[in-house]
Amino acid sequence: MLTGKNIVITGGTRGIGKAIALEYAKNHANLAILATKISETANDTIEELKSLKIDVKLYACDVRDPEQVEKTAGEILNDFGKIDILVNNAGITRDNLLPALSVKDIDDVIDVNLKGCIFVTRSFTRNFIKNKGGNVINISSVVGLMGNKGQTNYAASKAGIVGFTKSFAKEYGRKNIRCNAIAPGYIATEMTAELNEDQTRAIKDQITLGRLGKPEDVAKLALFLASDMSGYITGEVIRVDGGMYV
Ligand code: NAP
Repeated sequence: MLTGKNIVITGGTRGIGKAIALEYAKNHANLAILATKISETANDTIEELKSLKIDVKLYACDVRDPEQVEKTAGEILNDFGKIDILVNNAGITRDNLLPALSVKDIDDVIDVNLKGCIFVTRSFTRNFIKNKGGNVINISSVVGLMGNKGQTNYAASKAGIVGFTKSFAKEYGRKNIRCNAIAPGYIATEMTAELNEDQTRAIKDQITLGRLGKPEDVAKLALFLASDMSGYITGEVIRVDGGMYV
């Protein structure tokens, strides 16, 4: 379904980003994967992806740093020639009640989740215009739509992604560039592994389907949005939350 497509995924070495990378690899895309550093986990993921006989390369890049992002985008374009699809998936949480959040907790979350998404997209926009088409998929969160206590910084960053997605879609729709956001609910990854039993039970109570999601649930939607099957969809936010926010 994605044969010949060159795709960039930020935070693509573990969790949801890795599941998306595997789904795209199974559909024969070539992948440029970004992670904060070249770790053992990152290398293992790259080896797993390579075993699916695709062209895949790992880049160490902190999405908070616009100069690093610009430099890495240049390297990727040099290596791959052009990029067709970008998935902005890198994200972090620093949860606490608002008075207990440090300035650093607030800055880090906004810098990685929101500014990182904007910086990376900015660095590939000229490439999309030059290629007369492109496709950006941003990973927001259901809490960006419904809010969540203890996550004011995170929810604000994810709501910001929604505004960015819609604006970017409007700015570049006439250039044949699509942009959509995915709003996952609670997905079992390292990010949610810190929750204790009581917290997990309380969350399950809020979910219509009564269970946490899997990274693969998000990856299936990311495949649909990357493919021509979604060719007339842009500026949209789609929830994968088991009916958490109905
Ligand atoms: P995760 O397992 O903690 O993985 C986060 C990824 O982001 C890692 O690959 C990490 O790279 C990367 N990353 C973090 N800071 C970065 C930075 N400064 N520069 C570049 N990359 C950076 O998280 P996840 O659960 O898979 O979440 C993936 C995305 O889905 C996030 O945007 C998250 O907010 C969103 N989301 C998750 C859930 C959920 O329930 N899990 C729900 C809604 C939305 P390293 O491996 O190098 O650290």
